[in-house]
Amino acid sequence: MAAVLLLPIEVSDAGWLSDIFKGSQKPGKSAKQATAPKPATVAKRVTPAKRVALAKPSPKHRHVKLAALGPVALPPSALKPAAPTCDPAKFRIVVDVGHTAESGGARSARNVDEFLFNHRLARRIEQKLKADGFTETRLLLTEGKARRSLVRRVDAANNLQANLFLSIHHDSVPDKFLEEWEFEGKKRGYSDRFSGYSVFVSRRNPDFRTSLAFAELIGKEMKAFGLPYAEQYSQPIMGRHRHPLLNKETGVYSYDELVVLRKTRMPAVLLEAGSIINRDEELKMDSRERQDIISSGVTAAVKQFCDRRWAILGPL
Ligand SMILES: [Zn+2]
Repeated sequence: MAAVLLLPIEVSDAGWLSDIFKGSQKPGKSAKQATAPKPATVAKRVTPAKRVALAKPSPKHRHVKLAALGPVALPPSALKPAAPTCDPAKFRIVVDVGHTAESGGARSARNVDEFLFNHRLARRIEQKLKADGFTETRLLLTEGKARRSLVRRVDAANNLQANLFLSIHHDSVPDKFLEEWEFEGKKRGYSDRFSGYSVFVSRRNPDFRTSLAFAELIGKEMKAFGLPYAEQYSQPIMGRHRHPLLNKETGVYSYDELVVLRKTRMPAVLLEAGSIINRDEELKMDSRERQDIISSGVTAAVKQFCDRRWAILGPL
């Protein structure tokens, strides 16, 4: 773990996600590290050449020679793969609560720690997944200061040998966008300029392609609920917080240096569920209704992901 501990990690005073979770290494040949998923098992087609090979009689079975040389008349159903099904009871998802009680991440427009939003939503997701049969789901709560908590959460996920890692966060803005308002008699920072969810993956995750597949599923579910994604991350105005938008339909960005995405040894995705520095969206994120929508969307995405995973790798 020394390698992880030695990684320089920028930590801003604001505690905003984009700084807290970033290592300082530049993206390199990260894409080459990506492990391409194995193609899904499909029915093996019998080519003409194979038919001949198959028809080649063994010394013991010369009597089948003539019959075997004819076309292979298999029923169509024989060419289809057995319908793969996921076994939720064995599929382990780690739902990571972003930040800690001690280092609460961003502050909302009404001065509430991001950690509290993350904890509540992650718990809802955990409950929903378990209720839908994903009984191996683990809520990951870490303690301590931001930097050390990164190592702990990555270690925990790796030790649990999770099949999937999902980190839950709520978004804010760089300080330069902050404006001032008064809430409950005190001046607070806010920005109504941006809103929406966003999904992040790292091209340096050992299984980037599968991470991306899961991120896409989450983005599609969010979109299906009519939720817009945060478009500002692809814009020059974000400066060093700008990130490549991998899919302009689903709001999936790459954020290669996020420690929890690149050091986890399983597909990993980070969801910024919505902006809590936006005064209106903070209220929505605080509502049971929005938490239910997002947890339902995540659960639906996990189900689809699990099915695909099963199809590719077989029983876990
Ligand atoms: Zn965060």
